Amino acid sequence: MEKTVEVAVIGAGLTGLTTAFYLKKKNKDFILLEEKDIPGGVIQTRHENGFTYEEGPNTGVVGNPEVPELFEDLNGLCKCEIASEKVNKRYILKEGVWEPMPMGPIQAVNTPLFTLKDKFRLLGEPFRSSGTNPNEPLSEMVKRRMGQSFLDYAIDPFILGVYSGDPSRLITKYAFPKLYNLEQNYGSFIGGSIKKMFEKKDEREKKATRKVFSVEGGLSELISALCKSAGEDSLLLNIKNIEVNPAGDYFIITAMQNNEKVTITTKKIITTTGSYTLRPMLPFADNELLNAVEKLKYARVIQVILGFKQWKGMELDGFGGLIPFIEKREILGVLFLSALLSYRAPEGGALCSVFLGGVRREDLTDKTDDEVKIIVEREFSDVMRLKEFNPDLFKIIRYRYAIPQYGIESYEKLQALEQLQSTYKGLIIGGNLRDGIGMADRIKQGKHLADII
Ligand SMILES: Cc1cc2nc3c(=O)[nH]c(=O)nc-3n(C[C@H](O)[C@H](O)[C@H](O)COP(=O)(O)OP(=O)(O)OC[C@H]3O[C@@H](n4cnc5c(N)ncnc54)[C@H](O)[C@@H]3O)c2cc1C
Repeated sequence: MEKTVEVAVIGAGLTGLTTAFYLKKKNKDFILLEEKDIPGGVIQTRHENGFTYEEGPNTGVVGNPEVPELFEDLNGLCKCEIASEKVNKRYILKEGVWEPMPMGPIQAVNTPLFTLKDKFRLLGEPFRSSGTNPNEPLSEMVKRRMGQSFLDYAIDPFILGVYSGDPSRLITKYAFPKLYNLEQNYGSFIGGSIKKMFEKKDEREKKATRKVFSVEGGLSELISALCKSAGEDSLLLNIKNIEVNPAGDYFIITAMQNNEKVTITTKKIITTTGSYTLRPMLPFADNELLNAVEKLKYARVIQVILGFKQWKGMELDGFGGLIPFIEKREILGVLFLSALLSYRAPEGGALCSVFLGGVRREDLTDKTDDEVKIIVEREFSDVMRLKEFNPDLFKIIRYRYAIPQYGIESYEKLQALEQLQSTYKGLIIGGNLRDGIGMADRIKQGKHLADII
């Protein structure tokens, strides 16, 4: 097959599909190339035995206006589901007991999660001077501004929940730019958050509500809606061994599809795949630059899905529970999915998701399925107060490259990406190797990539 197009997008995950959708809206002539036989990347919803579960991400945060705008632009093809606000508690495990994360100042005073010393220390947070090291790890920044117990029982479990990561290896400026900017622009997390609350927001900014979202029927409904709207004939699946080479003002892409050679000539290429995929894909790229990009580490994670037709454990009245590293458990946390989202489990039942591994316990991801089952049975039954462990659904999903960790390599990595893009005009490197790891970040970047085309 030979084709000439204006733009070629590589990778049909959420980023690539969002880009394709907005390219279609702009009437651009494009093609979307995917290695697997199914689009969606890590987003895959399954329906089984009365349960609807996700193999990859479960929920996102409406962290920017591009999220509601995408659902509006999809014109009813799929419906955004905002998670039930009745169950907005987030639990943190301390000495075997779930403690709700404080949601306001009175709870913050009363919670046993933080030490009395750190609670007093917090009063001084607005008056502490700002950091000067742009490469300061998150753990150092939190200790400096808030104290060790806030790091151990608020930030550390939060980092496990979002990055499956280690706060001492994530660089705040790159992993949490909004937090970094609060300190840099306002001199304080607390003062900055309060000031920002009272700052005038335009109608578009107000769309970023920070509510938790999914999609009615599961996230794959969003993927189907994007594929349909972007035009299914623009999506080529089963495209293996992609190799891109510059040729004058153009790029020539060669690949194989079902044992047939595919050749595509294009002026612009957008990659949305991981840093570890770029070397074989861009054989012309400078070795040193690729080395810098490949320094990006990814957390290895196992997600275990548990479905119960009759739930007999603790009341599921929250978003879920996270387990600080200091508690020395073998699971990272539990999401109470059937409490958050509708029709995920039969009436009276429950759907939960448990995570294992992450950058500090990668050893657990080498365990066999039988060993994982033993760990999950022991830990889940204990923390969820379940006397008999007899799930009606038990799925183990393994990810070698789950979540990129924006660490100390970030500056060098971003410089290398910029250099590649400026040397080879028309090459654009996107995906979650930059600009954020969450679904909201992916939607925002996907739209931006179509805009800059
Ligand atoms: C287990 C897990 C849980 C998560 N939980 C959450 C969560 O709760 N909330 C949240 O907001 N985010 C979460 N995330 C992150 C979020 O899901 C991802 O950041 C996002 O879905 C990534 O989308 P993407 O399109 O950038 O990448 P991907 O989904 O990885 O898509 C990339 C695509 O490129 C294809 N590809 C790769 N190499 C090639 C090649 N050489 N040629 C052609 N195609 C190629 C892949 O097959 C894939 O389809 C989670 C991620 C994981 C793995």
